[in-house]
Amino acid sequence: MSETYHKHSGINPDFSVPGRKQKNIEYYVQGLRERNRFVLSECITLIESKNKVKRILADAILDSLPDSKENTLRVGITGSPGVGKSTFIESFGLFLITQNHRPAILAIDPSSQINKGSILGDKTRMQQLSADENAYIRPSPSNAVLGGIAAYTKEAIQLCDAAGFDFIIVETVGVGQSETEVDNITDVNILLLQPGAGDDIQGIKRGIVENADIFIINKADGAQFELARQTRSAYKNALQLFHHDISGWTCPVILTSAIEKKGLDDVYFSILEYVSLLKEKKLFKAKRQLQDFHWFEKQTFQKLQDIVFQHPEIKLKYATISAELQAGKTSATAAIHTMEEVFRKLINL
Ligand code: GDP
Repeated sequence: MSETYHKHSGINPDFSVPGRKQKNIEYYVQGLRERNRFVLSECITLIESKNKVKRILADAILDSLPDSKENTLRVGITGSPGVGKSTFIESFGLFLITQNHRPAILAIDPSSQINKGSILGDKTRMQQLSADENAYIRPSPSNAVLGGIAAYTKEAIQLCDAAGFDFIIVETVGVGQSETEVDNITDVNILLLQPGAGDDIQGIKRGIVENADIFIINKADGAQFELARQTRSAYKNALQLFHHDISGWTCPVILTSAIEKKGLDDVYFSILEYVSLLKEKKLFKAKRQLQDFHWFEKQTFQKLQDIVFQHPEIKLKYATISAELQAGKTSATAAIHTMEEVFRKLINL
C-alpha cells in the first residue's frame, strides 16, 4: 500500500471498519477514481455517520483524495419551496449533460427535521436526471450531521469532485443561515424566484443581493410570462442600487421555464461568464482559498470545543455551574469567570 494514502494524517491505509464486509480505504478511493456512483454514496454515508470508527475511515478517505480541480464548478441554487428548484435542476442538469458535464446535486434542507419532508424526500423528484449515469443526486441528510450542514456539504463536494463530477450543484431552501453557509462553499450562487416575487421588491435585503450572483425568474411560461417579465424589470431596477462585490459584474436577471426547458443556456453562459471574470481578476482561486481558511478556522474552533468539553473536570464543572446559575445561586458573570479559571488552570495559563 502506498504512502499516498496518508498524506497528512498518518492514518493507517489498511484501516477498515470492523464488521461483516471488510472494505478498506483502497476500496473507496479506487471506487471514486472509477467514478462508481454506488461507492460515492457509500462514502457520503460515511461522512454523515456519527459513529466514531466510521468517521475515522471517512477522514482517511478524504485525506487520500487528489486535490480539488479548478475546472470543477460549485454552484449554489437557493429559492423558497415551490419556486421550481427541483424542476429547474432536473432540466438544467440534463442540459449540462448535453454540454458534456457530469452534474452532481447535493440538496440541503435545514427544515427537513422539522416538517419531516426533506426537499428530496419525494422520490419522484428529478427522476430523469437521477436515471442518467452522468448525474448524481444526493438528498439532504435526514438529521444533523457532525460539524453542521456546511461541514457535511464541503466534504460531500470533495467526494463528488473525486468521483469525476465537474458541475456540483448545492440546492438550499434559503431559510435562515443555510444560504450564507453555502456561500462559503460555492463559487457561484443563484437565487431562483417566481413571477410576482417582485411584489415585495421593497423588502429586497442586502443579504440576498450579497449572496446571489445570478437571479432567475422561473415559470416564465404560459399565462405567467408577462408577469415574469415585469418581475424581471422590477428586480433589474432594484439591483441597480446595489453594487456586487466583484467589480465589473452586474447580476443578470434571467427568465427561465424549467418545464419548457427555456433560458437554460442563458443561465449556463452567465455562470461561465461570471467564473471567467473571477478567474480574470484572479479571484476564483483566492475565493476558494479564503473559503478553505474559513473552513479551517471554524472546524478548528469546533474541534477545540469538542475536546475541551470532553475533559472530565470541565464537563463536571460546567454541569455544576450551569445548575447553580439556573437555580439563581450564582451570577452569569461569576459563572463565566469560574469557567475561565478552569480553562486556564488546565492549559497552565
Ligand atoms: P421546489 O419546491 O422549489 O423544488 O419546486 P418544484 O420543482 O417542486 O416545483 C413546484 C411546482 O412548480 C410544481 O408543480 C412544478 O411543476 C411547478 N413548476 C416548476 N417549474 C416550473 C416552470 O418552469 N413553469 C411552470 N409553469 N411551473 C413550474
